[in-house]
Amino acid sequence: MPLLSCKAFRQISGNFFSAKYDNGQAEPSRPIPLTPIAQARNCASSGCPFCTILMANADPSFLPEEVLYTDAMTLKRAMIDPEQSFQLFIGMDDFSRTFFYRVPPEWRLPSLAELDKPWDELTLMRTWLSNCVTKHSKCRQTASRGFPKRLLDVRAFASSNDIRLVESQSVLATTKYVTLSHCWGPVAKHLICTSKATLSDRMQRIQFEDLSMTFKDAVKICRDLDQKYLWIDSLCIIQDDGEDWSEQAAAMASIYGGSYVTLAALSSADSTQGCRIRPREPAKPKLSRYQDFNFGSRRVRILEHSPTYWHSEYGDNPYKHDGYGSSPLRTRAWTLQERELSLRCINFAQGQLLWQCRTMKGSSELPWQEMIRKHDDSYPLPLKLNQREDFTSHGPAFQRDHWYGLVEDYSSRYLTNETDKLPALAGLASKFSEEQNPGNYLAGIWSDHLPSALLWRTVPLYSRNRDQPISPLAAFLPRRPQAYRAPSWSWTSIDGEISYESQRIGGCDDTSCIFDSEYGNFKITGSYYQLVATFDTLGTPSDAALRMRGNITELEINMQPIEGDFTKSLRRLIWADGTTVGAFYPDIVDDFRFVRSVYVLSIRSEPFYSSIQMPSCLYGGKVSFSEPASWNDYDLRMGLALLRARSGEVYRRVGLVRWLIKEVFDGTQPVQLRIV
Ligand SMILES: [Zn+2]
Ligand SMILES: [Zn+2]
Repeated sequence: MPLLSCKAFRQISGNFFSAKYDNGQAEPSRPIPLTPIAQARNCASSGCPFCTILMANADPSFLPEEVLYTDAMTLKRAMIDPEQSFQLFIGMDDFSRTFFYRVPPEWRLPSLAELDKPWDELTLMRTWLSNCVTKHSKCRQTASRGFPKRLLDVRAFASSNDIRLVESQSVLATTKYVTLSHCWGPVAKHLICTSKATLSDRMQRIQFEDLSMTFKDAVKICRDLDQKYLWIDSLCIIQDDGEDWSEQAAAMASIYGGSYVTLAALSSADSTQGCRIRPREPAKPKLSRYQDFNFGSRRVRILEHSPTYWHSEYGDNPYKHDGYGSSPLRTRAWTLQERELSLRCINFAQGQLLWQCRTMKGSSELPWQEMIRKHDDSYPLPLKLNQREDFTSHGPAFQRDHWYGLVEDYSSRYLTNETDKLPALAGLASKFSEEQNPGNYLAGIWSDHLPSALLWRTVPLYSRNRDQPISPLAAFLPRRPQAYRAPSWSWTSIDGEISYESQRIGGCDDTSCIFDSEYGNFKITGSYYQLVATFDTLGTPSDAALRMRGNITELEINMQPIEGDFTKSLRRLIWADGTTVGAFYPDIVDDFRFVRSVYVLSIRSEPFYSSIQMPSCLYGGKVSFSEPASWNDYDLRMGLALLRARSGEVYRRVGLVRWLIKEVFDGTQPVQLRIV
């Protein structure tokens, strides 16, 4: 049924969807009369796409029958979010909410998933790629492009789907190739790889039928995108050749960084599950249906339901709500850099395709835009190191926050081998260093981010749903690796999720009112970095010390759990008379079953707004922040908990301390100490 004969549709001018429509109106919008519900239903059943979407959300069951047939529905911009949704009314009753997005004029692709039509993944992928290649100046290949040692030729045989492995010397260095990012899964699911024994066979021919589902999909997509070469780690690296493996692992940054596009099998737990959109739970509602309509010169996409945000579809929701960490690929440590290093990445999520390049993010539902709002009120701003820093999006505070975000993401992922902690981050660290110039790399932190970078804490896992086969909760409790890996002041000395929340400020939307202090008596006076220059720092010396100068004192730990602390990890620090003087987050809770006191080192003052994060039961509401008399004059301090490592002023870090009343340092003098 052509839209022109739809009475409801004809009532709406393109103006209704313009951003200016509501300007100057107290009400969210002027109502537009449409047709009675019964008529819209008829129209929908004779195939009208507009009425089909309108009626999909409508719940008129509570309206009296007479008005359904006689009174016209009216259309209004919704009160909540008038920029993106509208509602249907009869009289004063609203009975639907429908979402719309304006299609940017430069997005020329015809509507893809028109209501019940099947996905057109390929058209979408091609459009994203050609837009990125031709229009995004930030997404151009950098000069220092690497090249893998071997590639799979997916068009090796004219009349067969079979592929073969080729040495890259036989390929022009300017040849494009596609990379695959995937979960290997348990050993039983490693269907095919290359070993010393099979190398020469693989170079002759690999039967298409021998490939796992994910590899087959990747080969097909590669061909569909007119590409000839594909790189898959398990086939292109000789798995039982240690030398080949470490050489190629070290080249990972340039292999992914040099690839034309990375295909990421986001929702597949192992190589048998494929990288096409195949919902694993058919009962789960699919993503919303949508259709593009032209209203005058304007094109508008109308969706039945609110679209899924990029980050929640990815399983990477920055607010850590539902869906966080639920995509198998999202849970693996090695794959973070595969995503971050790639120039472009197409993720095969459970519900839809997700695009990411250095310019934009997009989804099948909303392919043209990144949907995350940048720094809205609810997302905490990074703390400043001093008064001169500002909140511009490329300033040092944001650079630090970007790295802290990567650390939080990375540390929440699984590693099969404990010893891979630094190697699986090495590519990302070298890229960050190249692009941001953050100083020396000290086992996972940057010298320019000191001393802020020391103020991490572990996140005790209590209920998050992790994709881990054996005892998901126990597997993710913070713990130390069996063999020494890094000095205690680095988060890489711990396995488990890390948080830098102490270095962000929440709950304040007026950045001009945020005060922060300098570091008082605290100073970093030296570090071991002269000794190491590599990013994997496998050879971090076991006495790698940070030398510093600061005020230190010993406090008792109260072993009673703090009421309302559902993580059961927070402890009170007390004076001999039992007065609470601060809070202690042990890095490993079990380390403190029998230890009754710690040294505390003051590093910085608590920012004024951190009282919002302070557990209210800590001081029983008795301590409050007073307005600062001057810069660097707050009541509460933040720092490290230490235990003596050996004689002399040599300590190791055992936790983070917060909201310490500054009187605990009364009478102390700054001392020189070393933390190992
Ligand atoms: Zn209609
Ligand atoms: Zn791009």
